[in-house]
Amino acid sequence: MNKKIMIAGLILALAGSCTSTKKEAAGTDSANPLLTEFSAPFGVPPFDKIKMEHYKPAMMKGLEDGEAEIKAIVEQAAAPDFENTIVALDRSGELLSQTRAVFSAQNSANTNDEMEALSREMAPLMSQYRDNISMNAKLFARVKAVYDAREGLGLDREKAKLLEETYKSFVRGGANLNAEDQAKLRELNRQLSLLQLTFGQNMLKETNAFRLVIDNADDLAGLSEGQIANAAEAALDANLGEGKWLFTLHNPSIMPFLQNSDRRELREKIFKGYIMRGNNGNEQDNKEIVRQLVTLRLEKAKLLGYDDYASFVLSERMAKTADNVYALLDKLWEPALKVTALELADIDAEIAKEGGSFKAEGWDWRYYAEKARKARFDMDENLIRPYLKLENVRDGAFYVANRLYGITFTQLSDIPLPHPEAQAFECKDEDGTHLGVLYMDFFPRASKRGGAWCGGYRGQAYKDGKRVAPVVTIVCNFTPPSAGEPALLSLDEAETLFHEFGHGLHGLFGDVHYEGVSNVPRDFVELPSQIMEHWVLQPEVLKVYAKHYQTGEVMPAELVEKLDRSSKYGQGFATTEYLAASYLDMDYHILNEIPGNKEKGNFEVPAFEASTLGKRHLPSQIPPRYRSTYFNHTMGGGYTAGYYSYIWSEVLDADGFEAFKETGDIFNREVAARFRKYVLTPGGIDDAMEMYKNFRGKEPGTDPLLKNRGLK
Ligand SMILES: [Zn+2]
Repeated sequence: MNKKIMIAGLILALAGSCTSTKKEAAGTDSANPLLTEFSAPFGVPPFDKIKMEHYKPAMMKGLEDGEAEIKAIVEQAAAPDFENTIVALDRSGELLSQTRAVFSAQNSANTNDEMEALSREMAPLMSQYRDNISMNAKLFARVKAVYDAREGLGLDREKAKLLEETYKSFVRGGANLNAEDQAKLRELNRQLSLLQLTFGQNMLKETNAFRLVIDNADDLAGLSEGQIANAAEAALDANLGEGKWLFTLHNPSIMPFLQNSDRRELREKIFKGYIMRGNNGNEQDNKEIVRQLVTLRLEKAKLLGYDDYASFVLSERMAKTADNVYALLDKLWEPALKVTALELADIDAEIAKEGGSFKAEGWDWRYYAEKARKARFDMDENLIRPYLKLENVRDGAFYVANRLYGITFTQLSDIPLPHPEAQAFECKDEDGTHLGVLYMDFFPRASKRGGAWCGGYRGQAYKDGKRVAPVVTIVCNFTPPSAGEPALLSLDEAETLFHEFGHGLHGLFGDVHYEGVSNVPRDFVELPSQIMEHWVLQPEVLKVYAKHYQTGEVMPAELVEKLDRSSKYGQGFATTEYLAASYLDMDYHILNEIPGNKEKGNFEVPAFEASTLGKRHLPSQIPPRYRSTYFNHTMGGGYTAGYYSYIWSEVLDADGFEAFKETGDIFNREVAARFRKYVLTPGGIDDAMEMYKNFRGKEPGTDPLLKNRGLK
């Protein structure tokens, strides 16, 4: 399913470089906890000691050390070999990686103005650091010498893959360009890193800027008690006082509002606030940033010998080509539109039932679709929440992992936390071996980006022959508890928890020796997460975790059955909005020239978006899941020419779950062991399709996906 995931897997953004501010880095080393070996339990960062002023000197020192390590590789007298060049390069920049991991994760979940300013200051230095490596001619000569001699080196498959990936990263980083083109590339990288960052920061500001304040209780008609209580608390937190209710563009606030509010004009107001983010002609407007991003990315791709940016990106992905991506999207588009038309007919019928004579608009869809679902399946979303107490869902995810892999999670009470609201768990293997630490941080706050993601404060690695265990974090924006009540999740949120937990398992099980082979392709990385979603609604799992928060009663069989029958309802809308965003992302990045862009920037982002969606007959009531000016996946980087990855991975996870079902046991330990061994443990040592086939014994088919989504 299509989740609001921003970061996948353990992607620890690598930092760039610096030379000019030695003064600030000097003299603080002994007092800076980021420059001292982490001595907290399990080597987690000393969050209780880290202060804002520690980040910059630590990153500066990291850059300095990293550059010195590169210099030592280049200037050594010994002839290049695998250890002294490829492994040494992989090990370089360790302090920088560690510091950046802490900074980036905190900047996403606990940011403030100072952190945002520092990230803008560091972005060009980081970009320069990476470029100083990729475009270092002497270093590349050493790498190339080892690469050219690869046949005779007798490397095992992990080492061979590291060598190949290292060589490719130099070529893709501009190592083969002449000096003039290298200078151009450096400038493009610098600009791109800043534009991507600014895009995301604008988006957060725009999301926080909108407020729907209700001061008349009649306008709360249709909303659930929990929603009303949360909105009253939000109003108090925002110093609006008693008797007011605040609704925002954060998902736990807006989405249930659109689904439940009887006030059509208020739904319209909040809906328009949402879809106009970054497109308001103010300081945070992202249209010009999108235009520049698309333009500069194309320039970069051409400089590196590709026709368009998608080709540059996809050559490293499982999909390989844009044609393969479009082939999958096209296969799903017509069936999705057909189901969407049926859903729209239901919506029109609901409007007619009420005696309404208007045409359904975007702000009506969720509201009337929910009414139609109730009518069709006698199913009310609000009946489910009491059975989905957050702690129970979390423990349900732990239970599934225990049944599949024998691993356990134990809450840690005496360990530094990245935020007071976060929780920490130790993950142990079946035989008691420590696998890693898992943080979980569930509720929205103004300092946190929207969506849900899994990241890390430390990646899995090897040091002196010993496995360094990862420190993984899951960050969400779930419905918070209201006064005196526990947090009660929607089904979508429960699935998101399992999803992120799946990424977490991928991180915790990782066992590779080199950072350079630790990541899998972006269109494969959603397999470990999405496959976990399949267990959420299994009756054997529900009976363990879905217990009423007041009575402890297990979700009644009748409700489970209704849930099961109704869970496919709405897939037309969900699939269509997702595919529309995927097309939009791809269409921007297959451009091989920017229309009307030769002299002045008159490439119109809204017009491009309208034309790309219009020509595919996207129903007017359904905006793409993300519009251009708040599409952080593609514009902020990370999922550029890659938003299709969720559905690409879904082919794999739908087919992969069949492997469990075929045995008649959704907890089959033998199938789970294969999944762990071939998919979750080896990082990116093998090619993605090989990994899948090692697990499944065959290539995946698309039928299970189509059936799961009710499109076949
Ligand atoms: Zn994900």
